[in-house]
Amino acid sequence: MRKFARTISGVTPLAVMTAPMKCPGRCLYCPTYENAPHSYTPESPAVLRAKRFDYNARQQVEARLGTFAEMGHPTDKIELIIMGGTFLAQPVDYQYRFIKECYDGLNGATAASLEEAKRLNETAPNRCTGLCIETRPDWCGEAEIARMLEFGTTRVELGVQTLDDNIYRLVRRGHGVAEVVKATALLHEYGFKVYYHWMPGLPGSTPEKDLAMSQQLFTDEHFKPDGLKLYPTMVVEGTELERWYKEGRYRPYDDETMINLTVSIKSLVPKYVRISRVLRDIPSKFIVGGLKDSLRDIVRERMKQQGIECRCIRCREYGHRTYAGWETGEPRLVRLDYNAAGGKEIFLSFEDDKETLFGLLRLRIQSGPVPALGGEVNGGEAVIRELHIFGPEVPLTAKDSSAAQHKGLGKALLQEAERIAKVEFNAGRMVILSGTGAKEYYRVGAGYTSQGDYMVKSL
Ligand code: SF4
Ligand SMILES: [Zn+2]
Repeated sequence: MRKFARTISGVTPLAVMTAPMKCPGRCLYCPTYENAPHSYTPESPAVLRAKRFDYNARQQVEARLGTFAEMGHPTDKIELIIMGGTFLAQPVDYQYRFIKECYDGLNGATAASLEEAKRLNETAPNRCTGLCIETRPDWCGEAEIARMLEFGTTRVELGVQTLDDNIYRLVRRGHGVAEVVKATALLHEYGFKVYYHWMPGLPGSTPEKDLAMSQQLFTDEHFKPDGLKLYPTMVVEGTELERWYKEGRYRPYDDETMINLTVSIKSLVPKYVRISRVLRDIPSKFIVGGLKDSLRDIVRERMKQQGIECRCIRCREYGHRTYAGWETGEPRLVRLDYNAAGGKEIFLSFEDDKETLFGLLRLRIQSGPVPALGGEVNGGEAVIRELHIFGPEVPLTAKDSSAAQHKGLGKALLQEAERIAKVEFNAGRMVILSGTGAKEYYRVGAGYTSQGDYMVKSL
């Protein structure tokens, strides 16, 4: 059962853990152990796996690929997830080496440079179609973004947690709301997918305040993330927050309050957002206070009782729904426009009558060029930040007519995006921030060429 769920979104996620190193953050609630990367406990499954290979990136990737193969998963489309502390704050040469070794692991060959490793990966059997890096909003400026582009990054998870400068100060976060706004705008302009980590129940907050800030996430154009990871605050052994808890300076919400709050947050999330996970990967023996059980099931049950549906992407994905026994209908094209981070976002999707999601595309129109590319922009600059077709993963070579990935939905979404960009916005070119392993798809099937770290086509 678990095996199937892992690849149900069409791409296999492969998490790689970086070695424990110092983090520039001093967050009150962060688990910090000597023998584990910041924000993880020594017994988290990902840490245990990484330790077995002394945090060697290539060996971790190869071992995971081996496990996936044994379990019968296709591994032709991989999303690499770089975990552990604040990766972009680690020594720069370590960062380059680590990412190169990840690609070496996927390629099964040692390249001379990161550039070469990426080139090899474009046509390798195990392609990296997406790469995700977690970072702090104040470690997400032009220099970090330039590096992330070189690494082949497509998705950035920002540790946002709250939207209140007093709470940031109280938990010693080391940055404020201004940094969140800045990082969010930059990431959008460069074409990244942006997810936020979000922590209800921090010291200084209340359930009402958390709910109001959650609303603000999706009404205020400075934010509007593409995805959300909900991490209700937990008191973890050995943290400064544990001391506060013991001294009575901090009291977590009771389970009932946190569950109700989570239900409320889930029910206000717009259709273009993916809520990808609830609760951190922390074994319960390390949790001193706060919610211990996996929230997802309780929350789902509660929503069902109250007749509320989560309309987030994950809950509507074709793969998850067919797996849960839903009957699916014919996909039709749906369009949702909204403004975010100084640009116009156009969310295109294929859905049936019950909003089951077969595929999606995020198109952005902004007034200036993608900063890394420059050039003249006559109408607007059109940027595709994501193209994703859902459904049980089918190997690139297999011909299974029932799988959404083979119905040409990707091509139809791409053509519609190009039409909108050209006809409605007079855009001269389409720019795609594509995962290394997806470049060939755009090159061969859709007439795009590489320019810098992007795929580009003049319209
Ligand atoms: S930035 Fe993240 S990893 Fe670093 S101390 Fe804060 S929570 Fe922990
Ligand atoms: Zn959902």
